[in-house]
Amino acid sequence: MPQQFKAPRGVSDLLPADQPYWRFVRETAVRVAESFGYGQIDTPVFEHAGVFLRPNAEGTDVIDKEVYLFQDRGGDELVLRPEGTPPVVRAYLEHGMASAPQPVRLFYVISAFRYDRPQAGRYRMFHQFGVEAIGEADPYIDAEVIDLLRTFYDALGLRDYTLQLNSIGDPVCRPAYIDKLRGYYSDKLDRMCGDCRRRFDLNPLRLLDCKNEPCQPFKADAPRLIDNLCEACEAHFAAVRSLIDDLGIEYNLDPLLVRGLDYYTRTAFEFQPRVEGSQSTLGGGGRYDGLIEQLGGRPTPGIGFGTGLERIILNLKRQELDVGAGRRPDAFIAVADEAAAGKAMQLAHDLRLAGLTAVLGSPGRSLRAQMRHASAVDARYAAIIGAQELADGSVTLRNLETSEQANVPLNSALARLGGANAAS
Ligand code: AMP
Repeated sequence: MPQQFKAPRGVSDLLPADQPYWRFVRETAVRVAESFGYGQIDTPVFEHAGVFLRPNAEGTDVIDKEVYLFQDRGGDELVLRPEGTPPVVRAYLEHGMASAPQPVRLFYVISAFRYDRPQAGRYRMFHQFGVEAIGEADPYIDAEVIDLLRTFYDALGLRDYTLQLNSIGDPVCRPAYIDKLRGYYSDKLDRMCGDCRRRFDLNPLRLLDCKNEPCQPFKADAPRLIDNLCEACEAHFAAVRSLIDDLGIEYNLDPLLVRGLDYYTRTAFEFQPRVEGSQSTLGGGGRYDGLIEQLGGRPTPGIGFGTGLERIILNLKRQELDVGAGRRPDAFIAVADEAAAGKAMQLAHDLRLAGLTAVLGSPGRSLRAQMRHASAVDARYAAIIGAQELADGSVTLRNLETSEQANVPLNSALARLGGANAAS
């Protein structure tokens, strides 16, 4: 027997029953991002490997362990995007957006791929809503991007989340801080996890957000980057906080918050649901003033966020939030005589032109089986066409909620079912 397949580990099908959630979340993302003046951008699912595997990207889990890297048949090294920011920056440079008025405000709703250990809320293919504001260093844009993300969560009706905020400095103040951090951790490494021993050399900031048990006791006394910021970073952070206060957005300062990707500078933030553990970050982002240069552009500031749609939907479901149902069929056209199939298809066509939804029954099946099918798809009406109806140009309409039934002229079916052009 041929093999029957299941979807690969860590990826899932988004079935019709879940689509109302997906539609609600996607439509809300588009509406909120556009209300802030962000324009939608779609970049390809795969990119040249170098867009992600840049020399300074080493030491991050996403790049070291999670990237889907492959060679195509022409020998090009390609990567399935693990996140949205580098492709958007690549597109910003490729399409000359640097010469448009800055900042350029962009958003996307994309699939992303990480060879991660699958668990609840963590998948190998997932979806993100993200924004990028490129070409602006002023703190107002940091506050705007944070405001956009909380506006999105609020528009969805998500409750009980907290905003964590930190500044992770810049190339002026970070190197000296990293030295201090290495100094602090150097005599503790033998008691720490393997990941952290690797991070110590490659990306020591990540020592601060290790989730492994052996490393927890050392965090509380580690030197804090917010106590070691240079004057410019400190002023920037103070301005961001003041604007966020003005907007009435509550936040917690979290000196241990660092971002997983290498190119972040200054503002870093995450939204966490109050109820869950460490794997549950709803969304996060920050400033990436070094990235545009890493991708061959002139020094250009940027800031953005990414928020995972699967995790949002998990939380919406947990809150039992009503996102509305999918569209019910207005009519299920039951074909009681195979000779009536053409007439039935014509009726379905007319109903659809009038803005109604019509689902065809299978002419070869019994009327009973078709009526069962009509109930299963939750149609409002069954429209039955058999030999009699074919002969006298009528249709039998059965209201599937009340079981009332009437035989009506075919040309009045539209009006009965409430089509948009019913009067004509
Ligand atoms: P990151 O790009 O790692 O900052 O992730 C941004 C957001 O994307 C996270 O807060 C999650 O909501 C979501 N996310 C990241 N990785 C995954 C994953 N493997 N599965 C599902 N959602 C994810």
